[in-house]
Amino acid sequence: MVINPSLDTPLILSVFSDNYVMPLKLFAITLTMSGTIIMLAALHPAVQLWKAHRTGRQRNAWRILLVLMVLFVMAYGIFLAALATHNVTMVDLVVSALMFGGSCFVILVLRISLMSIKDIKKAAELERYNALHDQLTGLPNRVLLYESMLQAIAHGKRRHTPVALMIMDLNQFKEVNDTLGHHCGDKLLRALVPRLRDAVRACDIIARLGGDEFAIVLGETDKEGAITVAERIVQSLEEPLSVDGYDLQTGVSIGIALYPADGNDCNTLIKKAEIAMYAAKKSSNHFEVYKPSQNIHSLDRLNKTRKLHDAIVNGLLSLHFQPIVDLRSGQVSCFEVLTRWTDEELGPVPPDEFIPIAEQSGLIKQLTLWMLDESMRQCRHWLTFNPGLHLSVNMTAQDLQDSYLIRNIADTLAKHGFNARQLHIEITESNMMTHSRHSRRMISQLHELGVSLSIDDFGTGFSSLAYLKQLPTQAIKIDKSFVRDIASDSSDEIIVRSVIDIAHNMGQVVIAEGIEEPECLERLLALGCDYGQGFLFSRPIPAHEVLTWLRERGELVRQAAV
Ligand code: C2E
Ligand code: CA
Ligand code: CA
Repeated sequence: MVINPSLDTPLILSVFSDNYVMPLKLFAITLTMSGTIIMLAALHPAVQLWKAHRTGRQRNAWRILLVLMVLFVMAYGIFLAALATHNVTMVDLVVSALMFGGSCFVILVLRISLMSIKDIKKAAELERYNALHDQLTGLPNRVLLYESMLQAIAHGKRRHTPVALMIMDLNQFKEVNDTLGHHCGDKLLRALVPRLRDAVRACDIIARLGGDEFAIVLGETDKEGAITVAERIVQSLEEPLSVDGYDLQTGVSIGIALYPADGNDCNTLIKKAEIAMYAAKKSSNHFEVYKPSQNIHSLDRLNKTRKLHDAIVNGLLSLHFQPIVDLRSGQVSCFEVLTRWTDEELGPVPPDEFIPIAEQSGLIKQLTLWMLDESMRQCRHWLTFNPGLHLSVNMTAQDLQDSYLIRNIADTLAKHGFNARQLHIEITESNMMTHSRHSRRMISQLHELGVSLSIDDFGTGFSSLAYLKQLPTQAIKIDKSFVRDIASDSSDEIIVRSVIDIAHNMGQVVIAEGIEEPECLERLLALGCDYGQGFLFSRPIPAHEVLTWLRERGELVRQAAV
């Protein structure tokens, strides 16, 4: 077809053959109608976009666009009517093509805008999800726990119903992490989630607070209800969890606090549930409901427990070493390892204070493992300069309860190439007496491993001699309270003399601790005491001073660059 380009003649289709008039008219109408339909279809995403912006200039802009689109649709209608009733010109054809193209453009832009907005929304939702959920387990995190608690408390307030909060942690998680690796620990935490879900209702919130600590919010639940759930959780964990082919059994300690009885804000309830959880650990019960009597000094204690936990995790504890001297030769045979903790805020905290906290909060095993590892690492270096040195470490009854202890000690010995015969474990007399059957089995296993045992603070407990005879211990450490004044107090001297005689008769060596004065040393030598420890020889010293101290005493076989 040829279009007449002459500008002085109107571009009417009649210049073309009559055969084309009708089809071109139909074509123009079809284009315009399609344009109208597309423009009408574009109204839907435009409304969505308008609704998606609730406030501000953008909402106004979308509203103006909507109005314009409606006007366009009306203009399309008028143009369509004109096309139907008049002859179609070349201009009409071009206009209908532009209208069609314009509609396509509008719907395309609107669709793309909608898609981008949806993507942005999705990304924002994902970001919010990540900010409110724990990556490992997919459970709500501490932030979402607070939100959920606020809602549950508000609901409880309106309906006058109680809310229970549970804080729980696993008893053997650290051991799993240390012995089987972190990936196994992570899998254990993930495997735990379905068990917890099964134990609660679908509307209850389970959150992970970090590490092996979880929280559960039970809406419309009173004390009895919470106890039932706690029992269900404990029971469900009696069945071992299968992780990487291992059947792992993990105990839990659960603390329960209730709204409104124990508090009406999140922080108070969390604190009280934590206090109850530590009480559960202490009492070896699986769970405890918060009681004000648990609260005596407990906030201060809770603060210290948290700080101690952080100090252990972040390697902020340190070790001091105090020499134990062979009294006859005057040579150093061993170093007792004593843990030190200095907190930025609290200053130095004495071990007599933080060891009991570690015991009651279940942190002692972690502390002991760290202490074993670090002391052997240090001592391994000193052995190059004085191969005869031994290490003596302190342990508690709880350490002896730990079924992973033997394996952990064996692993640490192997890691540092440390001879088991150069490691001694000190256990206080009273600690030996508790949990006697299990402890005795562990003590025998330690003996088999080649690690020797001493009874610490001897004289302060109530051991029967018959019982002492059964224990495979090699040494008795006489408590400093009997040793210190031995030169001036005759009853102390009688006690020390008797202990030395009995110990020797039982084939044990005797170590006297708390030797501060030369007279005291003289008396002990006269009584036949084997080893001694005390400020007279040295106070406990930090690791980096040990080689210097040994060199000054002329006790280095090889010279060390210290
Ligand atoms: P302990 O096992 O009886 O340790 C000896 C304590 O007596 C140490 O106190 C030491 O500094 C102190 N001492 C040593 N010689 C003398 C002396 O001549 N005179 C006097 N007055 N005191 C002396 P420290 O370091 O404060 O430790 C206190 C207790 O804390 C230890 O008593 C031990 O039972 C416990 N402890 C320390 N570190 C650890 C540890 O890593 N694990 C465990 N389970 N317990 C630890
Ligand atoms: Ca000791
Ligand atoms: Ca002692």
